[in-house]
Amino acid sequence: MNIKNTGSSSYLERFIMAREMAISGYISKIITIETKLTYKQIRRVYRYLKEDGYILKKKSRAYRSGATLIRNYISKIHASLLMQLYYNIGGKKVLVSINIEALTKAFTLYYNIYSEIPEVDNKKWLPFDITDAWCLADELRSNNAMIENCNICNCSYFTSINQSTSVDCPFCK
Ligand SMILES: [Zn+2]
Repeated sequence: MNIKNTGSSSYLERFIMAREMAISGYISKIITIETKLTYKQIRRVYRYLKEDGYILKKKSRAYRSGATLIRNYISKIHASLLMQLYYNIGGKKVLVSINIEALTKAFTLYYNIYSEIPEVDNKKWLPFDITDAWCLADELRSNNAMIENCNICNCSYFTSINQSTSVDCPFCK
């Protein structure tokens, strides 16, 4: 699968991309932004998926900004892990435009890592969902967030200008 986000994509390519995004759990608002399909066309994507027997996950969250997503150092560590994976997979281009294929891969890796942590059973902190991942990627693309390198521990971390927590490295805390 090769997902492109260019104005020259054919209707079929955008339709396939919308289908893949719906299966991955993106909300329709984001699918609309990324594929430039109309609301009516997206409804058709969902209808075909239903006819094909797909049971789509219930969308738990809507669009959230960095202010809501990053409230403390734990959520900042999560954002750093997720966005570092995304940056490693997508490369420098993700600072200019969102790469859905790289984001979906990074989110899957992040989610698998999260699921492996035993303490997760305590549900102290719910992981980001794929919509959150897109919101963070959108902040990175629009220069509202950046990946910084800590001078003390040498870890890379994600920091947003909208976050409601300290700008310092979350790993040194
Ligand atoms: Zn540090």
